[in-house]
Amino acid sequence: MRVISFYPGPSRVYSDITKYIYEAYMHGILAINHRSDEFMELMAGTKEILYENLHIPKNYQILFTSSATECWEIFGQSMIRGKSQHFFNGAFGEKWAGHCRNLGIETINTHFDIDGRIPVHKIEPDAEWICITHSETSNGTGISHNSLKLLNKERTPDQLIAIDATSSMGGVDLDFNSGDFWFASVQKCFGLPAGLAILIVSDRAIQKAQQIHESSHYNSLLNILKNSQNNQTHYTPNILDIYLLYRTQKKSGDMRKVSRKVENRYKLWTDLINDLEYFDWLVKDPELRSPTVMTLVHHDVQNLKKRARSHDIIIGNGYGKWKDSTIRIANFPAIKRKEIERFWSFLRKNSH
Ligand SMILES: *Cc1c(COP(=O)(O)O)cnc(C)c1O
Repeated sequence: MRVISFYPGPSRVYSDITKYIYEAYMHGILAINHRSDEFMELMAGTKEILYENLHIPKNYQILFTSSATECWEIFGQSMIRGKSQHFFNGAFGEKWAGHCRNLGIETINTHFDIDGRIPVHKIEPDAEWICITHSETSNGTGISHNSLKLLNKERTPDQLIAIDATSSMGGVDLDFNSGDFWFASVQKCFGLPAGLAILIVSDRAIQKAQQIHESSHYNSLLNILKNSQNNQTHYTPNILDIYLLYRTQKKSGDMRKVSRKVENRYKLWTDLINDLEYFDWLVKDPELRSPTVMTLVHHDVQNLKKRARSHDIIIGNGYGKWKDSTIRIANFPAIKRKEIERFWSFLRKNSH
């Protein structure tokens, strides 16, 4: 791959992809019916490897949907009738709250600063769900293990937690027990083409969906669940992407190993950025940064991006109000070490 995208999704896909696509074609996987035994076997195997690699507890169900955006919608449709409280400091968290509001949910929007922790003391006792964004892709903030623990400590026993982990799942070893409704699309840390998302729900979340019993949409949660329990999907899914997920997860192995790689690279990135005179972190407190999406302040973003492009390196734009003052760099596992080194050497020479 000559041009390397460090855009935080879609981003570089795993380099073995072409081999797997060829394999899928040759084995006839692209032509199988989604009610066939072959598909059910593939789906069962894919879920099994996800349970194993990502350490998903057995009392959680893995469901497939088309995108993280669809999971926002499913959440608003099927999971909630009371109030949802959204803690956010960036565009993705805010959009999710907007989706819920558009579906008629009474939302409580609790904005917090990019230089501050989640204000857990502001949890509203009458919120049915608490919604957070694990890695806020728009500004590179991340929720630490400790913050998530604290959130769990402060919530009431009846409150559930929904977590958009789109730009961290597949790159960070998540503690699934600390949330009830987790989701991510695959074009970020999973290093795959867009068009598939993974939704992971606890038994508590399923009980909630059963109480609400919403069944008026093709993607009503109970309908997805019923199909998934038969290792099928509620619509003709992106079978190629499921196959690619299966193959790449078989190869990449335990998430502890993958997240160690991401962490190590993040440390090396930190050393470099601290050395480079013309770059600074948007998020000053290292504890509040996401290791998978790095957002850096630079005084001439457009020019830097252009220069990088002429070296076959694609840098991510800033997002929303940080569009013109920052760049975003994906630190996703599928990116190769030698590609990162090429980027580092470009930055050392072009930091001005
Ligand atoms: C990319 C992203 C989304 C949207 O993902 P789609 O697959 O386009 O629906 C949602 N939330 C976060 C945090 C993201 O990074």
